Amino acid sequence: MTATTWPDARGRFGKFGGRYVPETLVGALERLDLAAHEALADERFGETLSLELESWVGRPTPLSRAQRLGDAWGLELWLKREDLAHTGAHKINNAVGQALLAQRMGAGRVVAETGAGQHGVAAAAACARLGLPCTVYMGAIDMKRQAPNVQRMRLFGTEVVPVEAGDATLRAAIDEAMRDWVADPEGTFYLLGSVVGPHPYPWLVRQFQRVIGIEARHQFLKRTGGLPDACIACVGGGSNAIGLFHPFLDDPVELIGIEAGGATGRSGIDGGAGHAATITHGSPGVLHGCYSMLLQDSDGQILETHSVSAGLDYPGVGPEHSFLNSSSIAYYYTVSDAEAIGALEECSRLEGILPALETAHALAGAKNYGRDHPGASLLLGCSGRGDKDLDILAGAGL
Ligand SMILES: *Cc1c(COP(=O)(O)O)cnc(C)c1O
Repeated sequence: MTATTWPDARGRFGKFGGRYVPETLVGALERLDLAAHEALADERFGETLSLELESWVGRPTPLSRAQRLGDAWGLELWLKREDLAHTGAHKINNAVGQALLAQRMGAGRVVAETGAGQHGVAAAAACARLGLPCTVYMGAIDMKRQAPNVQRMRLFGTEVVPVEAGDATLRAAIDEAMRDWVADPEGTFYLLGSVVGPHPYPWLVRQFQRVIGIEARHQFLKRTGGLPDACIACVGGGSNAIGLFHPFLDDPVELIGIEAGGATGRSGIDGGAGHAATITHGSPGVLHGCYSMLLQDSDGQILETHSVSAGLDYPGVGPEHSFLNSSSIAYYYTVSDAEAIGALEECSRLEGILPALETAHALAGAKNYGRDHPGASLLLGCSGRGDKDLDILAGAGL
């Protein structure tokens, strides 16, 4: 088996992945697995998806040379512009794919979870487009922090349900969405937002996000006649990163994931981790139905995480990244909140592109890479736009 063909039949990427769920969901996951494999092998489904991506999402997204920023950092820097996709981030690629799958499977309604609200907005938009009733679970704390996204979802006709339980953020929202799904696994489709959760989700979401890397590889070859020295992307659950990396797995291209180092040097609130650097600082365990790296204490209790970027603030990570890391196929590093904000400021000033705070982590990682590899050519996954972060940036004095 080569890295391109994982996962195996049991949904395993090496020892990572799998399916750790209540008995009631096993049948639903098997049904989803079968339907997804059939859909992705069906030419007509492929054509419908391609047409939606082109005519509604705005694909292909451009590849932009970042000349001035690259000069400042000693790099030949290229940005794959997912910030220009409909609703402002890569999340829409997966939301459209899964919504079409839900329709094909005859689901009567869709449930989804959201943290910062980006996946919730993408799911709500895709469901509106297809006339599918949609319910999004969102932590009560996140609903306050991300009020404009709540309003967007409601305008798309989606019901947004506050989750007060647990940490009242993304982790609790995923628990609630799964609980809803368990209640009616036949009539409800669970539209999961990243390459996490039980099999087949990490595989399915990756297949819908691979379009990023497929386009970027083609565009890069066309513009430069070669391939980049490295690809770099931020890693929360890991969907934009794996989408960019996967089509380069058989190439001599270095793959680099950047995690949220948070307020490095400061210990976390409530004895938490103070960061969200799951691969670089975590240990293996089970969260949300999947065996992967996660942030836990010595008793297996999940730690509170912290990142200035809500989209990276998750204690787990996709099993494929855990596998790529453990087999040294891809490499993972962290940058701090402050480094990310600094890189965001430079990118905005030098390129006229305001990136999302998540994306800013990849940019800060690129800056560090430039220090060690002067003159290297780097393809960066510009996962989303930063308009949603203006309040946080104002709070940081920008
Ligand atoms: C949600 C989000 C991320 C993190 O999610 P992944 O699954 O790791 O890609 C990164 N960037 C943006 C703009 C996001 O909205």
